[in-house]
Amino acid sequence: MEQKVVLITGCSSGIGLSLAVHLASDPTKAYKVYATMRNLDKKQRLLESVRGLHKDTLAILQMDITDQHSILTAQSSITEGRVDILVCNAGVGLMGPLELQSEEMMRKILDVNLLGTIRTIQTFLPDMKRKRDGRILVTGSMGGLQGLPFNEVYCASKFAVEGACESLAILLQHFNIHVSLIECGPVNTDFLKNLMKTDLTGESEEVDTDTRSLYELYLQHCHNMFQNAAQDTDDIVQVFLEVIQSPNPLFRYYTNSALLPLSSLKFTAMDGSQYIRAMSKLIFTTKIADS
Ligand code: NAD
Repeated sequence: MEQKVVLITGCSSGIGLSLAVHLASDPTKAYKVYATMRNLDKKQRLLESVRGLHKDTLAILQMDITDQHSILTAQSSITEGRVDILVCNAGVGLMGPLELQSEEMMRKILDVNLLGTIRTIQTFLPDMKRKRDGRILVTGSMGGLQGLPFNEVYCASKFAVEGACESLAILLQHFNIHVSLIECGPVNTDFLKNLMKTDLTGESEEVDTDTRSLYELYLQHCHNMFQNAAQDTDDIVQVFLEVIQSPNPLFRYYTNSALLPLSSLKFTAMDGSQYIRAMSKLIFTTKIADS
């Protein structure tokens, strides 16, 4: 059977790297993987993970999703001349009190997470439409379905990705192109290390003491979530495989069922207040108890 051509963004680490390694290692060589990354100097980790065994199933390309020229150059390097499965995975976080998030940081987050995802889809979509065939998988986040304090702009970018994908999915049904969001909770990757954090030591006067202590509680909550509920990239890869191999993939997949009760409040109590109270209680309990 002809190899499925897969292009994945953000493969220098984390979910993208694991997915690229897994698909390129398929014993039946079912996939030709174009693992793309912004900076090719970081390709060593991927190469070490595949141990040079996959010359006919893996190619590494430079691709910065904030740069249209770089996306087009990557596209023109695909020897098969097509992408059957597009995985929009690259993303970056931004955390901290909103008052300290600079215009530059906010633009960067939106440029990568929202516009980068849209740019990538825009580039590969015409060919998929012509073929009347394709899969678009997007690494989503529970932060795209529910608000999280100190993550306002990150969540806004991921909420926006949800809107873009849902809108596209309606149209693309008519082209036999399946769009799926893989909604992740905490995953053990470089995400926390790579995320942009506001510096609370510098322009500290702009942030009041209550916000500071609530942020401390949030960071503690985040730490606990990663300790207790974080998944490994292999768990996420299994969900991606389910989507890729399904003849009729769903629109949303939730990788971490432990997080569903809270996020489903958004849909059962539609005015939104219950979710806000429940999340606030969960994160800031100590503070509420203190006050
Ligand atoms: P990660 O930081 O290890 O990987 C993100 C990748 O995106 C990196 O390789 C990075 O270089 C790349 N990237 C950033 N900007 C880019 C750009 N302009 N062009 C191309 N690549 C770029 O973290 P991860 O957890 O593997 O993140 C993958 C996706 O998962 C992201 O979209 C993230 O929002 C989402 N996600 C992660 C978590 C988590 O807890 N790790 C939770 C929910 C969703």
